[in-house]
Amino acid sequence: METKEQTILSIDLGGTKILIGEVNELGEVLASKRYPSDVSSQINAVLKIKAALNDYQESIGFIGNPIGIGIGVVGRVDREHGLWIEINPSVSQPVYLVKEIEDEFKLPCFIANDVYCATLAEITLGNGNLTKNSVYLNIGTGIAACVVVENQIIEGGHFNAGEIGHMVVDMHSEVLCPCGRKGCVEVLASGLGLHNRAMAVMKDYPESIVKKPVEINTRISGETLFQAYDQGDALARAVVGEALVGVANLIMNLVRVSDPEVVVLGGGVVQDGWFLKQLTPYLNEKTLRFVTYGVVLTSLEAKTIGIKGCSILAFNQLKSGKVQMR
Ligand SMILES: [Zn+2]
Repeated sequence: METKEQTILSIDLGGTKILIGEVNELGEVLASKRYPSDVSSQINAVLKIKAALNDYQESIGFIGNPIGIGIGVVGRVDREHGLWIEINPSVSQPVYLVKEIEDEFKLPCFIANDVYCATLAEITLGNGNLTKNSVYLNIGTGIAACVVVENQIIEGGHFNAGEIGHMVVDMHSEVLCPCGRKGCVEVLASGLGLHNRAMAVMKDYPESIVKKPVEINTRISGETLFQAYDQGDALARAVVGEALVGVANLIMNLVRVSDPEVVVLGGGVVQDGWFLKQLTPYLNEKTLRFVTYGVVLTSLEAKTIGIKGCSILAFNQLKSGKVQMR
């Protein structure tokens, strides 16, 4: 009888969607399905994850032989104790997610922060694999990074390392961040930050081709701003120009912290390559002289980098024999 290959059921919990996929040891996604997410609270998020897992088993089923479950979640995670601590400082109802999932689905479960998972995928399957010292920088709705030193992802004493969206990159900025400081890179250059900045300065640019979205809850996308920038639109030049300088400063500051040999960019704002192309002139050569492999775009598909990372997390943990406490 043919034995089925071992796989991991991987779950990537994002702000708007949950992606579930079955991933093999080569990082190949055998099947996947998208579900709506809910991160208004951790309780709601866990309900959504469980419902999605149940539906996935019924509607898609398994191609291989799942030997574990890997989950990437937004926010702070104590991996050793399988504890999802918080989504953000104001949304915190610590939940032992590993225990909750294992009790119901009867497979060993492993959880980590979503950017941590993407970084695992990057250093295993992507450009991060070129060296033991790298930085994975995610510029999406928010901004966060993982610093990899000697193949170890730095997590910090409170699982809060890499929240570099709150590095101040403009000392003279008057743009206030929810964290309390002014000029954080996240309020200038993240997907949400770009939208907020464009909305805030719109009144000063009545001639701009960038207009307020007609539908409520719709954002001015990075893409819209980048196209307007290419057409010489003054609003786009101001907002995107600020973001480019901010991210360039961020990257150069990170390079000074950990001496990486490659900086890999991922996330919705950068995925089409436009941002990186515009960014290059702002990066100082002397600062980047040891970044041997340069500042590059991830080679992994944005949609599946998270679930690939979740599978690597689970495979690695199962192989090492380290089971998360429950
Ligand atoms: Zn901040």
